[in-house]
Amino acid sequence: MDVARLKQSWHLVAGHGDQVPLFFYSTLFLAHPEVRQMFPTNMAGQRDRLVTALGHVVSNVDQVDQLVGFLQSLGADHRKFAVRAEHYPAVGEALLATLAHFLGEHWTEDLAQDWTAAYGLVAKVMSDGASAAENVSPPWWVGEVVAHEPRTFDIAVLTLRPQYLLPFEPGQSIGVSSPQTRAWRYYSPANAARSDGTIELHVRAVPGGAVSSRLVYATNVGDQLHLAAPLGERLTLRRAGAGDLLLLAGGTGWGPLKSLVEQVAAEGGGRRVDVYVGARSRTEFYDVDAIEKLVASYPWLRVTYVVNGDPSRPGEFTSVVDRAMADGDWRGRHVFACGSDVMVSSAVSGLTQAGYHTGQLHYEALGGQWYAPGQRVGDVQEQRAADGGTQ
Ligand SMILES: Cc1cc2nc3c(=O)[nH]c(=O)nc-3n(C[C@H](O)[C@H](O)[C@H](O)COP(=O)(O)OP(=O)(O)OC[C@H]3O[C@@H](n4cnc5c(N)ncnc54)[C@H](O)[C@@H]3O)c2cc1C
Repeated sequence: MDVARLKQSWHLVAGHGDQVPLFFYSTLFLAHPEVRQMFPTNMAGQRDRLVTALGHVVSNVDQVDQLVGFLQSLGADHRKFAVRAEHYPAVGEALLATLAHFLGEHWTEDLAQDWTAAYGLVAKVMSDGASAAENVSPPWWVGEVVAHEPRTFDIAVLTLRPQYLLPFEPGQSIGVSSPQTRAWRYYSPANAARSDGTIELHVRAVPGGAVSSRLVYATNVGDQLHLAAPLGERLTLRRAGAGDLLLLAGGTGWGPLKSLVEQVAAEGGGRRVDVYVGARSRTEFYDVDAIEKLVASYPWLRVTYVVNGDPSRPGEFTSVVDRAMADGDWRGRHVFACGSDVMVSSAVSGLTQAGYHTGQLHYEALGGQWYAPGQRVGDVQEQRAADGGTQ
């Protein structure tokens, strides 16, 4: 399989922008009208998720060994859409038809064979993951909203009680959907496992956002949400050894990092943890009471608040990463960063330029339109160039 050719061809197709998902979904729904009901009623916003994820994953098939765990979880996760084994070929056919359409004369017999083989591999790992999960966990959970606290004009903290225990690891994300929209988005629990099984989510309403606006402005105690199995390991402590940590948070990126602080506490607090929490203005530090409670309880924890202002006015404010680097040399620590694409990308490039090595940097950008497995430093920088976020 010629992986360089796969990547190059995907690059050419992706250059057609919005036309690609439009063609993909039209082809899929025309040939298989039965799958239309799996997607949200309003397809705006959904449009580039599936096809972008597929293109990225399939054209990175050379990393499939590293992605096996992720793809299995993704397959298990896709049970929330009622995806069954027989749907994978339908999606594969639509993907190949889309590639053929946009590649025109570049769509050769050899390339078609490579894409077919690569998609087949990815689909098999995902559908095996779905089968393996069948007897272990439900396709989704019903979670009741037991608390809903608006904290700023656009951020709310929700506490959910899943009907059955939903086990997750601090740093992972879970799918959340309101039954009204059928659209799923990822949110990151802000707590370690609790004895009552409840989950805290920190949600910022994105202007015009289908799911976040509903969660922040139109959700009440007693409402029911759908929750899907946890996914991801980039922000977990799995690869962080047992040493001290530096945590860099922007906006609701504090959520998953808070869960790491709780995990360290649950494990006995054997590490020093320094946290830098950034917000655009003082009024946007939305979780100060909880932070101060943590600081008062744990002598190994230190938190610094950073007003990082408007990223379009550089020089006027200090970014979270610049402030942390001005305060100390953290090169002996594992560093976790979570926040908007802009915040994460500036943290990663700042630390890399200062000599921090890739293996000690763990990060997640919340502005992504889909869950990007194995995202690398370069990807975040490319993504930053391509778009911007406000998380
Ligand atoms: C792994 C992961 C974990 C996440 N965890 C959290 C979390 O704990 N808390 C949280 O608040 N969010 C989190 N997010 C972001 C969340 O999943 C949604 O993308 C976000 O809430 C917007 O969804 P929406 O349906 O409201 O907007 P959509 O309807 O998807 O989008 C509406 C418009 O807003 C733009 N947009 C989408 N997201 C952003 C953004 N972040 N910044 C600026 N513009 C955007 C879109 O391009 C589109 O134009 C996470 C994302 C990922 C990938």
